Amino acid sequence: MITLSPDFAQEMQKYGEDTALACFNCGTCAAICPLLHEHFPRKMIRYIQIGARDRIMEHADELWKCLHCGLCTQTCPREANPGEIILSLKRMVVDHWRES
Ligand code: SF4
Ligand code: SF4
Repeated sequence: MITLSPDFAQEMQKYGEDTALACFNCGTCAAICPLLHEHFPRKMIRYIQIGARDRIMEHADELWKCLHCGLCTQTCPREANPGEIILSLKRMVVDHWRES
């Protein structure tokens, strides 16, 4: 069972992330991402929006596959900065691992 955290998007601000709520899930970032992997990075941004921290932790290994090429950020029509969101999620995951 997945627990949703309504304040998760706000919590992510301490990791440098404050653009996920601007995303309107158009899918451009997932289409342009060279990884072509299961709607990455769009799905990670959607997980932030709905507060699905557990789901991000389940798929945390995918974050480290990001090439930081910047294509997603360059093509995002909402300036949601998905590349930076992936970096922020990595900071969150490392913080979580350190505490556990
Ligand atoms: S391209 Fe931007 S607006 Fe579209 S799904 Fe990706 S982050 Fe969201
Ligand atoms: S920065 Fe990462 S998520 Fe964005 S397009 Fe490149 S590999 Fe994909």
